[in-house]
Amino acid sequence: MTELKLYNSLTKQKEVFKPIKEGYIGMYVCGPTVYSDVHLGNVRTFTSFDIIYRYLMFKGYKVRYVRNITDVGHLLDDGEDRMLKGARLEQLEPMEIAQKYSNGFHEIMRQFNTLRPSIEPRATGHIIEQIEMVQAIWDKGYAYESNGSVYFDTIKFAKDHDYGKLSGRIIEDLLTETRDDLKNQSEKRHSSDFAIWMKASDDHIMKWNSPWSVGFPGWHLECSAMSTKYLGETFDIHGGGNDLKFPHHENEIAQNVGSCGHAPANYWLHTNMLLMHGRKMSKSDGNTISIAELLTGDSPHVSKAYDTMVVKFFFLQSHYRSTNDLSDEALLAAEKGYNRLMDANKVLQKMENTSGTTSDLDKEINDLIDMAFAEMDDDFNTPRTLARLYELVSKINGIHDGHLSMNDITSDTLDRLKTTFTSFIKDIFGFIETTDSNGNSMDGVMELLIEIRQEARKNKDWGTSDKIRDGLSKVSIVLNDGKDGTTWSQN
Ligand code: AMP
Ligand code: ZN
Repeated sequence: MTELKLYNSLTKQKEVFKPIKEGYIGMYVCGPTVYSDVHLGNVRTFTSFDIIYRYLMFKGYKVRYVRNITDVGHLLDDGEDRMLKGARLEQLEPMEIAQKYSNGFHEIMRQFNTLRPSIEPRATGHIIEQIEMVQAIWDKGYAYESNGSVYFDTIKFAKDHDYGKLSGRIIEDLLTETRDDLKNQSEKRHSSDFAIWMKASDDHIMKWNSPWSVGFPGWHLECSAMSTKYLGETFDIHGGGNDLKFPHHENEIAQNVGSCGHAPANYWLHTNMLLMHGRKMSKSDGNTISIAELLTGDSPHVSKAYDTMVVKFFFLQSHYRSTNDLSDEALLAAEKGYNRLMDANKVLQKMENTSGTTSDLDKEINDLIDMAFAEMDDDFNTPRTLARLYELVSKINGIHDGHLSMNDITSDTLDRLKTTFTSFIKDIFGFIETTDSNGNSMDGVMELLIEIRQEARKNKDWGTSDKIRDGLSKVSIVLNDGKDGTTWSQN
């Protein structure tokens, strides 16, 4: 196996991955703000980290994967808390909003067959830890109080430590910018300072007691406090979308260093944005497609319904650090590609080989398998991994249609090919077979139908055999009779 290399956003280069503790990995990924439905852009980021998580486990690491739920403190540009806005619009309690959209998020993650993180902490469940961190930053002299709110003193911090390394921002430039917390600008000493504790107004619903005021924590603080609590002061990997680099992640680093003297993570991984019509998919400017619209096809952006696995395949066709642009044509192409891979796998898993010997073909297949894993080791390069798997698909189809010979590969190689496809499809990419509306696999049912048809044909009962084929074709399922038996696919 090749060494795993990761592109570290902090050093802006690919580095050989070395965990702090041999065999173990701590990974923190910024989770969703649960004030409305997640959109497909969010899903792209969380799916990318799911595949990274799966691949790390596949390589034998024991991974503690922490992904938080933001349910307080993430403000809109006008200063209103996103949660409170959601509560106001839907006339619900903020915690009802948090629960409703956490449930929705989990359901969507389930439909994409992603694994649950090891720990999923909520910001509102960690107010004490956040207050303690404000205190620690205060004790180190990097915080000041203004009108009951507490601000991180970026200028003082930048004199002692690096500030801006991750995002490449220079403190002088930051000083001239006025982006964050516009409402409270006057309370800050410098425009680049940011709130770590905010005093709440009397009518504010979500607020807690603290040594400074009745208020609530700043958004960046929750990730610093929760990653430290569950993964330690320094852990291996921190991830999120690249739109979070600044200010969120830059300020997380400042808070961690400012409170305990250590940078939180050794490797920072950032996913690039999902686009639609060439623009970032984003709720605020309406350039989104909901998951429901995609799955029903009920949207002007798509011509038909798409399976979540096809959408996941579409994500994998781009590297996680590249943008990908959603369009109907791209999804149609992904659907073809996905079906081709899954059909070849069905054919492969049925193949048997008892008498093959080694040859050029045998070597080629083994080399392609090695290369597929090497591409994943190269900063999780899924598009190139897929390209290698497609070269293998051509070999599988070649053997199936008789144009290549099974006699030219050994039974060990056939077994290795089978386990490689199972590992990629099931364990690493997390593809599941086409499902019915309850999320159940149709494989078992199809196996049974194919078996009944086979028996009917043996008994020359053509009526039953045709009835099965024609009935399935009405629901867009096609049976393909090949040398190694019958497979099925859904159009
Ligand atoms: P939010 O709920 O806005 O905090 O976003 C949750 C995650 O989704 C963050 O890691 C964002 O960076 C990521 N994200 C938001 N929009 C997109 C997009 N268009 N493409 C990919 N990731 C996104
Ligand atoms: Zn975060």
